[in-house]
Amino acid sequence: MNAVKDDIAENLRRVAASLPETVRLVAVSKTKPMAYIEWAYEAGQRVFGENKALELRDKYQALPKDIQWHFIGHLQTNKIKYIAPFVSLIHSIDSLDLLEAVDKQAQKNKRVIPCLLQFHIAAEETKFGLDFAEAEALLQSARYAALQHVRIDGVMGMATFTDDAAQVSGEFARLKQYFELLKARYFATADHFKEVSMGMSDDYPLAVAAGSTLVRVGSKIFGPRVYV
Ligand SMILES: *Cc1c(COP(=O)(O)O)cnc(C)c1O
Repeated sequence: MNAVKDDIAENLRRVAASLPETVRLVAVSKTKPMAYIEWAYEAGQRVFGENKALELRDKYQALPKDIQWHFIGHLQTNKIKYIAPFVSLIHSIDSLDLLEAVDKQAQKNKRVIPCLLQFHIAAEETKFGLDFAEAEALLQSARYAALQHVRIDGVMGMATFTDDAAQVSGEFARLKQYFELLKARYFATADHFKEVSMGMSDDYPLAVAAGSTLVRVGSKIFGPRVYV
């Protein structure tokens, strides 16, 4: 008997059952011990999300190699090298400088790294995330056109932390609209541009209703995080 293991399997089953087949679940395991990830893996989960490069590197090295690791947090350019050899998707590209730095590390590893453009859609002030004009400027730039080792697969965003469901739904609808506009203007013939990463433990049903293709769920699967 292992209560935490059983809880994780049951939580995963419940979250997965609530998602349409078109939506993939990223199990956000940041701050959680390796054993929790192994238990989720045994329950069938293969996609995990982390937000610290070194923690992600250590978990990658210790855990099964068929796990797909997604990076979902703010990425410092000097830490890209730790995840570039294996990361499956970087959700958090918020500048051309960062995208260029990822391209450089991807080239060193002789691979193409799939990335999402992170948008600032919440009402809260934060340094992170592009607005729509910034994203267009990035995609129209000669510097972007020169990159050969990154691929933009879609968009990502985080809604405001609030109980106001109408506001959250409105923010998700805006991100979905950004996705559709960028698809039409820059990726009309690119099948890989298909991801809308939105929705966390407290708001993923609203995100799914607004057209999410990737939900990033942590505490609903692994329990609350304790920061010390
Ligand atoms: C931590 C985190 C999540 C998961 O948060 P929960 O509320 O625990 O589901 C999702 N996305 C990002 C970017 C995060 O940092």
